Amino acid sequence: MRLWLWALLTLLPLPAAAAAVMEGTQPWPKGEVPYRIAPSLLKAAGAAGKDCAGWTKWHQGQAFKACKAMNEWQLSAGIRFVAADRLDTVNIVDGTGKATDGTLGRMPMANRVRIEARASYGSVLHEFGHVLGLMHEHQRPDRDQYLKLAPFLQTDLDTCGLRIDAVCNDVRMAFPVVKVQMSSGYDPCSLMHYLANQTPRHRDDPRWGRIFALTAKGEKALKLCLPQFAKLPSRCRKVGQKCTISADDAAIVRRFNGV
Ligand SMILES: [Zn+2]
Repeated sequence: MRLWLWALLTLLPLPAAAAAVMEGTQPWPKGEVPYRIAPSLLKAAGAAGKDCAGWTKWHQGQAFKACKAMNEWQLSAGIRFVAADRLDTVNIVDGTGKATDGTLGRMPMANRVRIEARASYGSVLHEFGHVLGLMHEHQRPDRDQYLKLAPFLQTDLDTCGLRIDAVCNDVRMAFPVVKVQMSSGYDPCSLMHYLANQTPRHRDDPRWGRIFALTAKGEKALKLCLPQFAKLPSRCRKVGQKCTISADDAAIVRRFNGV
């Protein structure tokens, strides 16, 4: 779920206006993204080759989830993932014991998605959203109109500064408002929006069980976007869903990457 701090700090000129894409993030020209899956993950999946060919028949582990996620982005946003060894190749690697995360947008090198053995499909799909340029929806500058952060989290945001500890490191990474250029409305249905319950982040502190509540305006936006998920299970029909790519997510990824 975490963005890479050094990716956040790679502030390069923004080539095009796009919603929910942070300033400085770079697109993938013509929506073409090179990828490479770590041999260990391919072997564990029972893959015959080096790319996603035949993924639907693999064991449903990390490589399977990665290929399924790339396929979903391809279908909904027209992104073309191509197996290639280039300097800017997105390396899909085992994150077990470390993290499930993804770098942000296209960087000249070191693009990467790490996937833990226990990562859900939705998390993997979310990390590829970062690779394609999307930032967290709840970090948009207009977020305070749509949600009210829990007081403890707001206090952490106000007081952490440069303090080094697990909570402050996390708070600085995933919750400050960041600069964006926007062209779509706030999307509580986004795959890139956090769930209100963030218990797994800091299990010893129950306050992470509810880090925000939607405002009246947020509830209204949610009601307007939810019909697109009418056919999905109830766990998917809520803010912070980690089931699928929302219509706005797909539109933004298309526009940003020039698809
Ligand atoms: Zn994330």
